[in-house]
Amino acid sequence: MVRPKNKIKESMRKIVAGNWKMNMNYHEASKLLDNIIIARTSIPEDVSLIIAPPSIYLSEFSSAIRDYPKLFLAAQNCSDKKNGAYTGEISAAMLSSMGITFCIVGHSERREYFGEQDADVNAKVKALLAEGLQPIVCIGESLNEREEDRFKAVVCQQIDGALKGLSKAESSKIIWAYEPIWAIGTGKTASSEQAQEIHAIIKDHLNTIGMDNQVPILYGGSCKPDNAKELFACPDVDGGLIGGASLVAEDFLSIANSF
Ligand code: PEP
Repeated sequence: MVRPKNKIKESMRKIVAGNWKMNMNYHEASKLLDNIIIARTSIPEDVSLIIAPPSIYLSEFSSAIRDYPKLFLAAQNCSDKKNGAYTGEISAAMLSSMGITFCIVGHSERREYFGEQDADVNAKVKALLAEGLQPIVCIGESLNEREEDRFKAVVCQQIDGALKGLSKAESSKIIWAYEPIWAIGTGKTASSEQAQEIHAIIKDHLNTIGMDNQVPILYGGSCKPDNAKELFACPDVDGGLIGGASLVAEDFLSIANSF
């Protein structure tokens, strides 16, 4: 039996996504999901929530959220391979068959700790699109690259790498997450001016290379209840990819209420 996915609205634009990373045991994770389900009615009608729990919980969570149209699940990673002898890996087809809608790809932690390159990100994006999932592709510069004023080139290069060989129609399925590495888990946030500047550059670049630039572009990096309002007020910031603050239902929902 293939599980149905929660239906994605074409107009889905304002998005708050929570990346739980490798945190919480099953009981803690279930409680957090329950609390999000209970509080979800308070968020504006046009805001969608995406939750990316550890993949071992996806199966059960996908049943649990089935009746809640504004809630979606994402995997945190997937294999670029279709199937076969790849011990420990999870394919896009497996995610699809469990009713999973989105998958984060190219998170800076995957790039740093697991050596993922732009070519791997590209292969994963292709694998996901082939199975009807929407990739949430993370891009962003290191502190050095920002200080040396190379951040624009780095981000554009990551976009080019992720989109290699894709059509404009395929690019319209992608959600981008701009996540400056220096802001992830550090408590340092990009200012709203910095976020708006690079989000506008990302849009321009997508347009220049003939790709869809009307897709959501999320900001990630120490986004919290006290700074989300200012960041989400930027015209080209369509929401957030939230790490630490997504582990507390109250904070996650408060961020979603910041639009
Ligand atoms: C992340 O890891 O994607 C992230 C944005 O983390 P944090 O919100 O904790 O900085």
